[in-house]
Amino acid sequence: MINNPKVTTAAIPVILGWEAVKKHYSIETGSDSEWIVEAVTCIFLNTSVGFGLIDTGTSFPSRLSFSGSSNFYLLPQENTDPFRTALQNLDLDASEIHFALLSHLHDDHAGNLEVFDNGFVRIFVSPKELDFIKQHDESYLHKAGFDKAALVKHSFLWSDLEKFDFGSISPISTPGHTPGHCSFMIETTNIGDGGVVFCCDAADLSENISDVKPPGICFGEKSEAKASLDKLISLAKCDKLTLIPGHDGRYWEELTTLHGMNCSGMTYLDACALKEELIDAHS
Ligand SMILES: [Zn+2]
Repeated sequence: MINNPKVTTAAIPVILGWEAVKKHYSIETGSDSEWIVEAVTCIFLNTSVGFGLIDTGTSFPSRLSFSGSSNFYLLPQENTDPFRTALQNLDLDASEIHFALLSHLHDDHAGNLEVFDNGFVRIFVSPKELDFIKQHDESYLHKAGFDKAALVKHSFLWSDLEKFDFGSISPISTPGHTPGHCSFMIETTNIGDGGVVFCCDAADLSENISDVKPPGICFGEKSEAKASLDKLISLAKCDKLTLIPGHDGRYWEELTTLHGMNCSGMTYLDACALKEELIDAHS
């Protein structure tokens, strides 16, 4: 599966912000009254063929408009620009990013595309995911928070994720959370013992993996979500890979410490305290 060992990759995980959601969003059997704080993330890849990204995170200006509903808060509640902070911290200009691999087209994974308006970034997504979002009406897009204008604006840049081949980066089809969802295996030089899989929304939390619990919210088939989780767990066992959950707050806080890439301006505990304040204020 890892077919070009000459291409090496450093993966730099980044926290862009936090979102407070009900636990049943992430865990099929999770409580619909317990609020948890999850990390909103993206991953910069430094490869021998240039810089790239797995997911582009959330865009605060567009995502803040969803915040404060009965089931979602974006934290912090300010119009910040953590994606640009991440670029600055890495001493990168957006024009130096060559490619972006999108796990799926939800706004906390495929936001910030406007940063690349004048660049040459190739955006890869699975054909199934692109078809799904094109066919869906505005009510789905509203729920997903995806900016359909981005599809039109960037249509000349979209490429087929299944044909993506940079050797040390392998997309893994993991449908269920959405019909075309993908996770990514990376033969990385800097985290894990030789290989990691970024599960993205195929497994939000460590608990999804340890207790083999599929995600709660599925825009695709629930049975596929369970099959995708089983596939990731057996792949990790076979190939001795570390599975990295997509949104686990404590896990990501530790993961980002090495490179100092918590760009949210707040710790996990700060975010938990703010979540409590907001819930109290709205109850
Ligand atoms: Zn999602």
